[in-house]
Amino acid sequence: MKTKILTTSKEDIETAARIIKKGGLVAFPTETVYGLGANAFDADAVARVYEAKGRPSDNPMIVHIARASDIGQLTRYLNPDIVALIENFWPGPLTMVVKKRPEVPDRTTGGLDTVAVRIPQSDAALELINMAGCPIAAPSANLSGSPSPTRAKDVIADLDGRVDAIIQGEDCRVGIESTVVDMTSKVPTILRPGIITAENIEAALGKKVEYDSSLTEASKHIELDPSEGVSESDFKPKSPGMKYKHYAPKADMLVVEGQRDRVIAEIERLKGLNERLGNKVGVILFEEQAFIEAAHDFFAKLRDLDNEGVDMILAGALSDVDGVGFAVMNRMLKSAGYNIARV
Ligand code: AMP
Ligand code: MG
Repeated sequence: MKTKILTTSKEDIETAARIIKKGGLVAFPTETVYGLGANAFDADAVARVYEAKGRPSDNPMIVHIARASDIGQLTRYLNPDIVALIENFWPGPLTMVVKKRPEVPDRTTGGLDTVAVRIPQSDAALELINMAGCPIAAPSANLSGSPSPTRAKDVIADLDGRVDAIIQGEDCRVGIESTVVDMTSKVPTILRPGIITAENIEAALGKKVEYDSSLTEASKHIELDPSEGVSESDFKPKSPGMKYKHYAPKADMLVVEGQRDRVIAEIERLKGLNERLGNKVGVILFEEQAFIEAAHDFFAKLRDLDNEGVDMILAGALSDVDGVGFAVMNRMLKSAGYNIARV
């Protein structure tokens, strides 16, 4: 398939919208990561998204809308908490899981009776949704399993020749995927952490939220048995996407966790050791407490190091138990396959 490379000009977005209307696939920038979009109500188009990504078909997609009133096409029931989160965080990197209308195809929701929905914050995304005139289902615009794409070139590297068009926009401002919160459970439950934190959501709702047990259990396992890698199959997450091998670079990756000085020293030691063995080693070490920058840079760094052809990536863990750093650590541990060294 020949992939059209488009800009964010009005004309090009019109071209992209026509492709979506005809059941085609368009990759487009959002503020979180690039998405690969199709008409959310066109089950065949959605099936092609799974195919293009090589994504397991029980892993549901996020449906993107351009204005809050469009949520009515996807769900009938809006409780006051949902309304409060819409008012506080949309457009923005917060996805809500709500009960779906029967009209929303099973393909889009991976057979679940709920649907994940958000309004993205980038102009190109909003124009595309508006011009297409339908909600757009979009997972991240990468091959399934590889690091999420935060730059147009990352999308081209993975999807050129596999999709109808790619809109080349700016680098994504946030750099990690949206926070996913399940609004169908008694207590709102965070299924995937992101830049909008539990604390932010609690402040907007005036009540406590929970983390899905798969998120907290991963760290519990690490506490209990730091020497053994934790397998993702040990957990049964509610968000289907959380159970797959995710974000993995081509290189082997190890996360070094502990007190900062020791982490730096251990990374240096392991780097030297491996280089003497003839391995090319890449290091990911963010400034202390610079969690927003870490979120912005993390996936791009993984891809850059893979492009440099490193054999091994050593990453310093961020120390943050529930904020933005925690969301980055969720990705970092997955990309390393829970391969962790404690120092
Ligand atoms: P991505 O599209 O790559 O950003 O991934 C979307 C994330 O949202 C995945 O982790 C999905 O499993 C999750 N998700 C989407 N729809 C639902 C849903 N209805 N219930 C629970 N999780 C969902
Ligand atoms: Mg993804």
